[in-house]
Amino acid sequence: MSRQLTILGCRLDLVDASEAVETIIALARRGNGAQIITLGTEMVVAARRDPSFLAVVNASSLNVCDTVGLLAVARLRGASLRERVTGVELIDALAARSVVEKFGIYLLGGAPDVASAAAAALQARYPGLRIAGTADGYFRLEEEARVLNDIRESGARIVLVGLGSPRQEFWLAQHSAELPGVVGIGIGGSFDVLSGRVARAPRAWRTLHLEWLYRLVTEPSRWRRQLALPTFVWLVIKEQLFSRPSAKGY
Ligand code: UDP
Repeated sequence: MSRQLTILGCRLDLVDASEAVETIIALARRGNGAQIITLGTEMVVAARRDPSFLAVVNASSLNVCDTVGLLAVARLRGASLRERVTGVELIDALAARSVVEKFGIYLLGGAPDVASAAAAALQARYPGLRIAGTADGYFRLEEEARVLNDIRESGARIVLVGLGSPRQEFWLAQHSAELPGVVGIGIGGSFDVLSGRVARAPRAWRTLHLEWLYRLVTEPSRWRRQLALPTFVWLVIKEQLFSRPSAKGY
């Protein structure tokens, strides 16, 4: 992994969806364990405020660009990043490849029955896909050992973790030693989309990079979280004005 830049202290790997999938499959084949982060604007703002989260972000094996805010900054700095890489798209492509590679996939997260509904949808789309297991994301602390054990015993090579950010990133970082050989990917609310509980923005909105606005309109309770966007813009402008370009030349 060579092409990368740093935005507000967070490493962003400049990969498109197919490069991300190839990297993840290679990591899963190698079997040494890895953490993948679908990096978003809110996460970069959160990492700015929490050094322990920043450390988790920068220790991961791959940080893909999940939001238009990060994509815009990457492009402004001259990076030729074609598209953002969303959790849903990653899961879809990884499911297709996992059939061929014979990797089991475990889905952890979401309200009760959401992960299993997402798993069923994936299996319908990719016959032969091995779902190693599913569990909802509302387990109590005392149930955590059972969840970890279930994942280990499932033999999953890829574990999709949809506990919301930053919890899913902290969770994967904290438990990497207990999940040897596993590639863990934080995928936020992707199971809600895959299971059909939450609709993705219509294609036209996505093409116009307005998925965030669609989500704000359809889930107004998210407005507080989206306050991270103006904060992000302000911090990036400040960074641009007061610091020198990164060593990589972006
Ligand atoms: N979630 C969970 N356990 C929790 C809190 C949240 O499994 O204790 C799930 C929630 O059901 C949803 C996802 O985490 O599926 C968070 O989705 P959101 O869209 O908020 O995350 P984002 O993609 O923005 O990080």
